[in-house]
Amino acid sequence: MNPVIGITCTFNYRLQQNALAASYVRAVEAAGGLPLLLPLMGAENRERLWEIIDGLLLSGGGDIGSFCFEEEPHPGQGEVYPPLDEQEIHLASRALVLKVPLLGICRGMQVLNVAAGGTLYQDIRRQKPGALQHVQKMPRQYPVHSILISEASFLASLTGELFLRVNSFHHQAVSRTAPGFRVSAAACDGVVEAVEARAHPFALGVQWHPEAMSDVASRRLFRGFLKACK
Ligand code: MN
Repeated sequence: MNPVIGITCTFNYRLQQNALAASYVRAVEAAGGLPLLLPLMGAENRERLWEIIDGLLLSGGGDIGSFCFEEEPHPGQGEVYPPLDEQEIHLASRALVLKVPLLGICRGMQVLNVAAGGTLYQDIRRQKPGALQHVQKMPRQYPVHSILISEASFLASLTGELFLRVNSFHHQAVSRTAPGFRVSAAACDGVVEAVEARAHPFALGVQWHPEAMSDVASRRLFRGFLKACK
C-alpha cells in the first residue's frame, strides 16, 4: 500500500481559497505515495490526522509572521496569514513529537525551524548584506545557485551529493537554527539551504523546490522520504 502523505495547502485569504501547486502531488506520486491535501481546518480535526497520514509534507508559500518567533515585524516582511502559521507550526510540532516523517519545502523548512524553536531572517536583502539572488527570475525547473551539503549530514546520504545546483524562490531564510537541528546545506553566501533534526527518523527541510526539478538528487530526496513513511 502506498503511504499516505499529507500535504499542507497555502491559503489565499482574499479569495478564501486553499491552494496547492500540482507539482507537489506529482512528486509524491512519482515516489510511490498517495497524496492527501490538507486545507486550513478546524483545530478539532487535527489530532485524527495522525491516524490517517504516514508522512507530512509542509509545502511552500508566503511569509511566516515574525510574532511566531517573538520578533517585531521588519519592514521587509511580506503578507502573513496568522491562522495558517498557527496550523502549520502546530502540525510540524506534532510530527516532531510523534516521530512522523516530515519534509519541509521552502516555507515548509522555515515552518519546521520555527516550530522547533529557531528564528528567521524576515527579508534576506535587507538583513543579510552580500546575499546572492534567492528569488530567481527564470522558470522553476532551472537551478539558479549552488549549495554545499555537509558531508556528515543525512541530506548527503539521502542525495549522494555534496554539491548541488538548486532553484530559489525565497526572500526569508533560517537565521538561528532550532535546538536539536543542524544545518545540512548552505549557499556560498552563508544562507541556510537545508536543516535536519538530529534525533528523528526523518525531519528534513530544504529551502529550494525539489518538486519542481527533474534532477536525480530531487528524485532521491522524495524517494527517501517515501521510504521513511512506509
Ligand atoms: Mn536559495
